[in-house]
Amino acid sequence: MLQLKNIYKSYITGGSRQIALDGINLKFRESEFVTILGASGSGKITLLNIIGGLEHFDKGDIIINGKSTKEFTDSNWDSYRNTTVGFIFKNYNLIPHLSILENVKMAVALSDLSKQEIQEKSIEALNKVGIKDYMKKTSEYLSKDEMQRVAIARALVNDPKIILADEPTGNLDSRCSMEIMDLIKDVFKDKLVIMVTQNPHIAQKYANRIITVRDGEVIEDTNPLKDELHQKPIKLNKTKLKISTGIRLAIRDISNKKLRTFFYILISSIGIMGIALIVALIEGFNEKINNYENDSLANYPIVIDKVYNNSYIYKTDSDKQDTENIDDLKSHKDENVIYPYDSDEDDSKHKNQITQKYIQYIKNMDKSLFSAISYESQVNMNILKKDEDGKISILDTSCINLSSYPKDYGDGTYLEQNYDLLYGYYPTNQNEVVLVVDEYNRLDTEILNALGVNYNNNKKIEFDELIGKEYKIILNNEFYKKNNNYFYIDSSEENLDELYNSKKAITISITGILRAKKSNNLYDLPQGISYSNELCNYYIENCIKSDIVKAQENSDYNVITGQKFKNSNVNEGVVTKISGVNILNNINQSATKNQMLSSLGASFLPSSITIYPKDFEGKSDIIEYLDNYNKDKPKDEKVLYKDTSTPINKLSTSIMRAITIVLIVFGSLVFLISLITIFVLTYASTLERKREVSILRVLGSKKRDIIRLFNIENIIIGLLSGVFGVFMAYVFIMPMNFILERIIDLPNIAVLKIENTLILIVISILITLIGGFIPAKIASRKDPVEFLKKV
Ligand code: ADP
Ligand code: MG
Repeated sequence: MLQLKNIYKSYITGGSRQIALDGINLKFRESEFVTILGASGSGKITLLNIIGGLEHFDKGDIIINGKSTKEFTDSNWDSYRNTTVGFIFKNYNLIPHLSILENVKMAVALSDLSKQEIQEKSIEALNKVGIKDYMKKTSEYLSKDEMQRVAIARALVNDPKIILADEPTGNLDSRCSMEIMDLIKDVFKDKLVIMVTQNPHIAQKYANRIITVRDGEVIEDTNPLKDELHQKPIKLNKTKLKISTGIRLAIRDISNKKLRTFFYILISSIGIMGIALIVALIEGFNEKINNYENDSLANYPIVIDKVYNNSYIYKTDSDKQDTENIDDLKSHKDENVIYPYDSDEDDSKHKNQITQKYIQYIKNMDKSLFSAISYESQVNMNILKKDEDGKISILDTSCINLSSYPKDYGDGTYLEQNYDLLYGYYPTNQNEVVLVVDEYNRLDTEILNALGVNYNNNKKIEFDELIGKEYKIILNNEFYKKNNNYFYIDSSEENLDELYNSKKAITISITGILRAKKSNNLYDLPQGISYSNELCNYYIENCIKSDIVKAQENSDYNVITGQKFKNSNVNEGVVTKISGVNILNNINQSATKNQMLSSLGASFLPSSITIYPKDFEGKSDIIEYLDNYNKDKPKDEKVLYKDTSTPINKLSTSIMRAITIVLIVFGSLVFLISLITIFVLTYASTLERKREVSILRVLGSKKRDIIRLFNIENIIIGLLSGVFGVFMAYVFIMPMNFILERIIDLPNIAVLKIENTLILIVISILITLIGGFIPAKIASRKDPVEFLKKV
């Protein structure tokens, strides 16, 4: 049934070729007991391994039941070993931590047999070798001859056609040797047994054929087979490790090494726990920031001002580059001069044309998006100025960006906190006002002209020229003269002179020139004249009581022009929340009349609109709505808005980004460390199992199946580590949140979501799988012969 044709095998060691088999020609019967005798190093084991398919010959051929093995693949050899050959070793090669029964089952674990059949066959085999009573014990408690009995049972259980035995009694005393030899002879009586031995007595006593080898050659054969072989085709079963078998083997292996597995899982789960905690923190922080943005930033309104200033909002370096013309200017200079410039030529400034049409567009906006809209008219203070030649004229307040600053703002004054004093002094009383310049010390020529500053197209104006400049505020009752039911402004030189010098006029003077601090991200005061809230309130109170306002309240025509108001009702659905800048915030009639009252003839339209979004989503919808208006409009007809939350938004997201990056870097480190740890652990455990792998290979396991077995085991360990790690993370989150709440006053920062938990468990499985894959591959590649020959 087996024929060796001219087999050559040599090894190259240390550069020289060592011939192990030198042209072996042998034929074996289907049933005979053959011993191979020879001195150490004569090539006996090499011959045995080649017959068993553990080693491959260099030249020649092995014919198995008429089939040449020249074309055999690795997988064919595996199947051949698994179904046709049984091995018995001198040193038994049992796996010590497995039970006796499991050691036997290993030989059939890869077969198609059912669990029940495997169990029955294994017990039957153990029965035959005289071991049955303690088959649940692990093999390490057995005596040597009992171990060899188990090894014989393992070779028997598969019902192989060929038994290959390598000095099976080499480690036994003579009495035990006899017993074992009797047993082998008995249980394999109708098989082909090929046994290697150095003991001629045993060979003589048990064999029906003795083949003697020397230096890789057969020098004697006591019973050679002369006639042609009786040839019956062999059937090679495909051996394949079933997943269920793999899982069973893996679970058994894990449970057999409980303590080791426990530490293994503990170490790798610490990594998973670290990642879980970091994920929980990032997740929680993100949520907190989102809530914060939704809740508080949504309250920051969208403002449409008369002049949209690009650098007003964005103060980051990249945004600055967008504004042309100022590239050559240096910001925050230390010079006592102002640079006049024409804002009409400045791209960073855009004059919004708030038309009736635009107001209507705003009014048509979905009312569920905002909680309030306020239309603000600029306070139309009546201010007189005196030119250098002594001429008195009315100052056009619409040009000087009048604004008011809050008096107190935490520690120190609002101005001192947010604005650098370039010249003069911070105001000390309500009649002192400041001039605000931009970061390049510039001031719009429009403002300079309105203020009556004669700069004669100079490139620079000394601060000195502006400090101390005086203006007169004229209250309504003096400013507007009454004529029957109408009011008018007497702009004759004599009257203006008289008003200017009247005791009732309020004298204001510029006492300081200010510039926003570098750290001031909000730029809330526009360039121009800024005065205190106190002055503003004083003026408003006076205006409300004035004759002209009272008259206007009680009439439905314009008290200056006599025109009837249109019957439009702007207030519908809109809360008119007007800041202190507006003088007539409590008048609740038609808007045009309202505006008339606000401006008293100066302007019929609001100079700015403030929209308070209801929530974060509402805000983005509003922005989209406002953007739609500008679509396809020429540049100068566009109305640009500013989102006052943008700087804060940018600030908070950059802080958030920083925190997230720190956490991610930290998390990656933990990830890397646990990856390395798991890799090392798996590698170590795989090396430790080299013996087991070799035995599995000898018994016919394919490399792929061994990798699969390791993978299954690693998946289980990864799963356990992941579950345990996530569980520990949940346990740790409670005290962590408690401590964090104490420190930063935010409850429940770390949140571990279920989906993240699942992802982490999958990651844990993947790391273990990857960490174990390479060592598993190395282990499966190890030539089992190397290992078996060494021992
Ligand atoms: P025996 O079993 O009779 O002791 P072996 O088959 O083990 O003989 O060895 C035959 C010859 O081949 C010896 O000279 C041995 O040194 C050499 N040999 C066997 N296996 C290897 C190997 N894996 N690498 C190198 N040389 C080997
Ligand atoms: Mg040897």
